[in-house]
Amino acid sequence: MESINPHFHFSVKKTPPSVSTFVEGILAGNRVMLSQAITLIESTRSDHQDLAQQIIEKCLPFSGNSIRVGITGTPGVGKSTFIEAFGTYITETQSADDKHHHIAVLAIDPTSPVSRGSILGDKTRMMHLSTNPKAFIRPSPAGGSLGGVARKTRESIILCEAAGFDVIIIETVGVGQSETAVHSMTDFFLLLLLPGAGDDLQGIKRGIVEMADLIAVNKADGDRTMLAKQAKAFYQNALHLFPAKDNQWIPQVITCSALSQLGIPDIWALILDFQRFTQANKTFYENRKFQSKYWLHDSIEQALKNQFYNHPSVQAHISTIEEAVLKGEISSFIGAEELLQMFLKY
Ligand code: GDP
Repeated sequence: MESINPHFHFSVKKTPPSVSTFVEGILAGNRVMLSQAITLIESTRSDHQDLAQQIIEKCLPFSGNSIRVGITGTPGVGKSTFIEAFGTYITETQSADDKHHHIAVLAIDPTSPVSRGSILGDKTRMMHLSTNPKAFIRPSPAGGSLGGVARKTRESIILCEAAGFDVIIIETVGVGQSETAVHSMTDFFLLLLLPGAGDDLQGIKRGIVEMADLIAVNKADGDRTMLAKQAKAFYQNALHLFPAKDNQWIPQVITCSALSQLGIPDIWALILDFQRFTQANKTFYENRKFQSKYWLHDSIEQALKNQFYNHPSVQAHISTIEEAVLKGEISSFIGAEELLQMFLKY
């Protein structure tokens, strides 16, 4: 399977480099090593998984020093255009905090096995940024459940940070559950919307709007400038109706044009404001701790589930029990109980 992955640079038949070679490479900012280590994270082979876990463990003390930004919005709203403009701005210009940054762009796209990567899979996206030496762009891990894809992305964040990337973007499509996953691994959540929506939230679920730390009305250029301003006023009012956030941050609304690179510096300045504000009131750190705890339990759940479904007795009996449940011979609860007993006994 791995051989069709373009990011898999070493032959699966050959022994991959050692843990220390990987770790040294990543800490030195070697992007090929980083990329190969992420491929190990994404691999389903257990030896690759073991190696990946050892690399993550060693990189962990060097991670965390970044701002993790989640970006969502419906397809076509301008996410990749925005990330291209934003990434170029913070890596190439003297930005609000007077620093040049290194940006890593990761994605969570659970639809990718079907659509062959509806986000970030297409190499023509972010053409300028993809050749920028201070940027690292990685498509969404393919396949698996949303939980599986999200966990791989979270592990990849650790490696990107250890490699010196201090701005981590996690992109997702604004259509489903994946926003919650992105929110559970980022510090700041940016929702991109289009001008002219007026009286609804463009099909974006209320829960997603509630997560936003910043709403940016994109495509505020040409004919749409006025519409964008109206949309901004509308969303500002809409946000007032939501309860205050635990971190006391008041979500902002801004207009921007990713295509004309308007509003990008303001958005970066707001992200920095947010970081300063939440670091001062400590909620930045509390949120990260909360997220670590969430991922601990998520990992336990996943590991137990995998063990259960891969257990020989469970595999041998699960279809018979499923059938019995479907025929109404036993209840779902009794069926589950029987399988769990087989799992726990042997
Ligand atoms: P994504 O699907 O959310 O990643 O959206 P894309 O970045 O691929 O953009 C979809 C289309 O909208 C492309 O044709 C872009 O050129 C266009 N677009 C993106 N941002 C802007 C903008 O700020 N203004 C205008 N006028 N067009 C934009």
